[in-house]
Amino acid sequence: GNKWFKLKYHIGEAEQQNKKTIATFGGAYSNHIVAAAFACKNAGFTSIGIIRGEKPNIFSPTLIAAQQYGMQLHFVSREDFKNKELLKQHFDTNYYWINEGGFSYNGMLGASEILQTVDTTSYTHIIAACGTGTMLSGLINAALPHQKIIGISALKGHAGLEKDIQ
Ligand SMILES: *Cc1c(COP(=O)(O)O)cnc(C)c1O
Repeated sequence: GNKWFKLKYHIGEAEQQNKKTIATFGGAYSNHIVAAAFACKNAGFTSIGIIRGEKPNIFSPTLIAAQQYGMQLHFVSREDFKNKELLKQHFDTNYYWINEGGFSYNGMLGASEILQTVDTTSYTHIIAACGTGTMLSGLINAALPHQKIIGISALKGHAGLEKDIQ
């Protein structure tokens, strides 16, 4: 669903840059991780998932699916996961990196196309759950002047969300 839209322009950019491998970040239940694994397989990229927290004894359905789509999983402590730039230095310099949740201008641009898939012109309000806010920023970008876009944060105490969306 929405995850493909957020990945679309990242995949396109990685192709343009002739990258072979795409790497990204997420938790053990991240829908972004499993969607990225599938999108990479579909487009012929090797995929790497940097997963928050120590390697679990029993993998979540998300991690099992990501692995089945060929994603190589690397588990890092919650502490180390906070410093993404430092983590990246442990990997090949030629990877194409996608932020956690696809959060970026490219992610927003892809999410802007969600409203083209259904006719929402008669709706006054569009309401969506937010993780990183990438999808919501795309919806805001594409919404018509008479539409009000409302985001509901799924994460507790996500103080920087509004700023991130702006
Ligand atoms: C990913 C996701 C969202 C939106 O995530 P953002 O990071 O804010 O773009 C909303 N709902 C569900 C079910 C999701 O998986």
